Amino acid sequence: MNFVEEYPDESSCRAKWKSIRDKQGVVCPKCKSTEHYWKKDKESYECKKCGCRQSLRSNTVMHGSNLSFRYWFIAIHLLTSTKKSFSASELQRQLGHKRYEPIWLLLHKLRSVMGKRDGQYELSGIIELDEGFFTTEIPEEEKKKPLKRGRGSQRKSKVLVMAESTPVKDDETPKGGKPRKVNHIKMLVIPDLMAETITPLVEENVSCESMIDSDDSTSYIELKDVVKEHNPQVIKKENVGKILPWVHIAISNAKRQFLNIYHQMDSLHLQNYLNEFCYKFNRRYLGENLFDRLMIASVSYKNQFRCNGG
Ligand SMILES: [Zn+2]
Repeated sequence: MNFVEEYPDESSCRAKWKSIRDKQGVVCPKCKSTEHYWKKDKESYECKKCGCRQSLRSNTVMHGSNLSFRYWFIAIHLLTSTKKSFSASELQRQLGHKRYEPIWLLLHKLRSVMGKRDGQYELSGIIELDEGFFTTEIPEEEKKKPLKRGRGSQRKSKVLVMAESTPVKDDETPKGGKPRKVNHIKMLVIPDLMAETITPLVEENVSCESMIDSDDSTSYIELKDVVKEHNPQVIKKENVGKILPWVHIAISNAKRQFLNIYHQMDSLHLQNYLNEFCYKFNRRYLGENLFDRLMIASVSYKNQFRCNGG
């Protein structure tokens, strides 16, 4: 797609945004009716039932934003055409925008839409499950406390990682290839490693017909109650890559990518960076369609992103 040719100005972006909204269906925030008039002079939809008006941006990812449509389009284009990612300061430089904050917000809103879209997907089949520990900035309220070491450190954010991962038959494994094939993955920031935290999250994100492979940690003691089969096993450190290959490939790729792109990651926004990583990973074979997919997700979800991590 030649982005510059297709979206040369604000009006071409607006027209495209409207056509996607019309296709997805506009819903009245008051009465939930889906029948609207388009008021061209006001650039807004008017509900046929109750007369409630909403702008082209209302109830989408652009809700409440003053940035141009073209900025949003450029950001969506870059987010879906780059294999890795880029920082808000990089995008700010590309756009030539004066202030950093609105651009930072725009990217986080898009990442939160990615998370909402993937949140609807339920993992199924055989699933690898483990935790990852990501280095993040120490939250303000923790700064005064003494620094703990290792995995309990305030510098480490805990992430529950799950990967749909089907074993490949021995004679079908390509030479040097992986013993398992991966499909979708999920990465979810968790406050602690308690079974009460992990079990409901797994229940919410994984089909009850699934089989889960994990180590024998007490955090996973209740998983057998929410899925068809749970196979906890004692895993020696050197065998993790063999038994749970894809969760560990995903964790180390995400860590390497974040380290290269972002100066410092705030633990409150780690989930958004993970959203983007998983969104791209899960759609790695879609190629050019990714732009349209993210556009559809962007008109479908109202921005509810809050600076304090909500
Ligand atoms: Zn209405």
